[in-house]
Amino acid sequence: MQRLKDLEKISRQLEPATGQRKATRKKVILYGEDFLKQIETLKAYNYTTDKGIGLLDSPLTGEPIDIDEALDLLKQNVDSRGLNPASGGHLGYIPGGGIYYSALGDYLAAISNRFAGLFFASPGAVRMENMLIGWLSEILGYPGNAAGNLTSGGSIANLIAIVAARDAKRINSKNLDRSVIYLSQQAHHSVHKAIRISGLNECIPRYVELDAGYRIQADELENAIQKDKANGLNPFLIIASAGTTDVGAIDPLDKIGDIAAKHDLWLHVDAAYGGFFILTEEGKKKLAGIEKSDSICIDPHKGLFLPYGLGAVLVKDISQMKKSHYYLANYMQDALSSTDEPSPADLSPELTKHFRGLRLWLPLKLLGTKPFAACLEEKVLLAKYFYKEIQKLGFEVECEPELSIVTYRYIPKTGDPDAFNKRLTEEVQKDGRVFISSTMLNGKFILRLAILSFRTHLKTIKLTLKILKEKVEMLEGELPISDI
Ligand SMILES: *Cc1c(COP(=O)(O)O)cnc(C)c1O
Repeated sequence: MQRLKDLEKISRQLEPATGQRKATRKKVILYGEDFLKQIETLKAYNYTTDKGIGLLDSPLTGEPIDIDEALDLLKQNVDSRGLNPASGGHLGYIPGGGIYYSALGDYLAAISNRFAGLFFASPGAVRMENMLIGWLSEILGYPGNAAGNLTSGGSIANLIAIVAARDAKRINSKNLDRSVIYLSQQAHHSVHKAIRISGLNECIPRYVELDAGYRIQADELENAIQKDKANGLNPFLIIASAGTTDVGAIDPLDKIGDIAAKHDLWLHVDAAYGGFFILTEEGKKKLAGIEKSDSICIDPHKGLFLPYGLGAVLVKDISQMKKSHYYLANYMQDALSSTDEPSPADLSPELTKHFRGLRLWLPLKLLGTKPFAACLEEKVLLAKYFYKEIQKLGFEVECEPELSIVTYRYIPKTGDPDAFNKRLTEEVQKDGRVFISSTMLNGKFILRLAILSFRTHLKTIKLTLKILKEKVEMLEGELPISDI
């Protein structure tokens, strides 16, 4: 009894009292406010040599530190080092966001800690997540009874979809090595990971020829399927992209949808980056046919500007999703009897999970969907503006932007263009006011401008053009790189 009492006293430290909560919360909120007040001037990339190693000077021990010290460690080692995805100057990879009301949604979800995995445990939380899946289905043209899951990101969404395709098409050890997956060389690497993780690595990958805009050529796809069928192979899956990461290319979804239906193949569309452009008029036209697919991956932490931690997968036929993820456990027998609404635990590998729905529901409700659509249209126009202006500065462009990614490079008067553009990327990154990244296309070193932060506006793009001009002039003034 004495031990119990002693332990309870210490355990109760886990529940700070009202006053302690208030004091701590105030400092946390202040920290967040300071960050947001400075966001316009904070660097998009902070190049440092220490890379946040100071964190290790404060090891985890049995004893507490105070909130000021904790926030200082966070500020000095985490929030002021490396890439700043919350900055509108983040124009590399696929930029992230950080909509404020999402943070408040996460706060509330963490406080009440609803069990969002099972309808039985939290009918409200599951209903909210299903409502969001329903909204995604609606904007993407899926039927009302389509299933889906809010995942931690696009990679897991792709994995769930590819596993569903595997099980729906009964791919197993007996037919694995003669089963064919059709995809593009531009497919995101998470697709390759998903193929490996789902045990499909021994399938035959068929890379379909692309057109000049890095899109799958539908007639080449048709030919490849026919040829494989004639050779006794088992074509079962097509993976198309609605906005590739490299250049933002949208495969001809409508034609590919017809081909998949004709040959009874599963069509998965990776719309992690491009999917939400369907909220704009132009995007709707460009993504036409996406509704013909069997599954879609789409990332609210990209196209809806949410803080990291929210992707989504949609599968048109719920039974195909359940096939891979149903479970039976004796200790769950009460929960299993509830069938009112599909539960996330039946549709994903997860059981206990973060109540992710709230971080999407709250901003969508508090802001309505209109500002999101406007912000996406703004991004497309900014890409078009950059595409036009960068050519005036003497840069070469790779292909016209389909969504909000522009690929370009500078050809120096003398020396190796690849080395020059590599230096240029490094110089812009070191400068840090904006962050750009690069890729390889047809063996060439190419710069990418990916516009997707909700904080990127005309001012940011003008600044980027100015910085690029400055850096090119500086590098052109140096000796040719090959002569150094
Ligand atoms: C970002 C991205 C992914 C991976 O999504 P994560 O959320 O980073 O896991 C998959 N496909 C495409 C096209 C992407 O742009």
